[in-house]
Amino acid sequence: MTDVILEKVGKTYPNGFHAIPSVDLSIEEGEFIVLVGPSGCGKSTLLRMVAGLESISTGELRIRGERMNDKEPADRDIAMVFQNYALYPHMTVYNNMAYGLKNRGMAKELIAEKVTDVATMLGLTELLQRKPRQLSGGQRQRVAMGRAMVRDPKVFLFDEPLSNLDAKLRVQMRVEIRQLQRKLGTTTLYVTHDQVEAMTLADRLVVLNKGKAEQIGTPMDLYNKPATPFVAAFIGSPSMNLLGANLTEQGIKVSDALTLPLSHRHRGSIVWGIRPEHLAVSDEQNADFALRIQAVESLGAETLIHGKIDTASGDGEPMVVRLSGPHLPDINSVMWLTAPAQHWHLFDAMTQQRL
Ligand code: ATP
Repeated sequence: MTDVILEKVGKTYPNGFHAIPSVDLSIEEGEFIVLVGPSGCGKSTLLRMVAGLESISTGELRIRGERMNDKEPADRDIAMVFQNYALYPHMTVYNNMAYGLKNRGMAKELIAEKVTDVATMLGLTELLQRKPRQLSGGQRQRVAMGRAMVRDPKVFLFDEPLSNLDAKLRVQMRVEIRQLQRKLGTTTLYVTHDQVEAMTLADRLVVLNKGKAEQIGTPMDLYNKPATPFVAAFIGSPSMNLLGANLTEQGIKVSDALTLPLSHRHRGSIVWGIRPEHLAVSDEQNADFALRIQAVESLGAETLIHGKIDTASGDGEPMVVRLSGPHLPDINSVMWLTAPAQHWHLFDAMTQQRL
């Protein structure tokens, strides 16, 4: 069943800034959708329109078939978790979680039951009488989630909820959020600028670029078949190697030092891409090209090698190679590489569309 529908939803701010031209998105019941993109692409604007914290300029928002454009936030049956948690500092954890339910006039016993249940689920039972300032960042984050969960809403909205936590806690909370969401089965719309967070949490991702949905799909769809160079560069870490090239009768001419044979009916300027993990070390005879090594990053389980395609003039295109395990090649030495054709990504340089 489709739970949330955005139909040609657009936003123009009062100063005339056209933040979102038009977004179409259908979210299934229980689905975890992540809105991801660089700073300023319009993620928060879109989320806040769904929440009712920002008016919708054009188009329609429907939740379970009902038009929501003009409904107050409190009447949309959604619960939002913010980046800064937005807890009431003078209230205990219990009262922070109970507040929304009290406001709705729910019976005391029922409130106690709900808060206790959710506190147990989130491991907050011992902390119910504390104030937010007596909690760690991770615990505050859990309280903010608890406050959303006790309301048992139709839709959860998350606005970068993990950005104030340190890297380790962020990973832990990410796993917890995903497990909780699966258990509760609540439809979720989640905003982040972090592509790793987006990839690990989402059933489907919406990659936003300047207010436009560049591509909507599962993490693997976007990784395997990015629709544009923007998505190709945004999804995956380190980023895909993307080089300007020419598609000719001989194949893909990346530079004087590198032509990759290919028969393709398209001709002209393209963007040729290959992920760092898809380049493979080879011997000189079988290699597609040589990389002049400039820097090596040893991460233990993997090694990132940064270099340039080797040319006589020394101005070859930059490339990153990702190898598993430890490798210690000399800086300035040459590494022979193959770029297997099944891993190429080709885009029309003009239209930016995948070929
Ligand atoms: P970030 O990750 O930095 O929070 P974002 O992707 O969430 O970015 P938004 O906050 O949605 O981006 O902003 C999208 C665009 O709309 C930005 O260019 C921003 O400057 C602009 N914008 C946001 N709020 C307003 C406003 N009230 N009036 C005018 N322009 C705004």
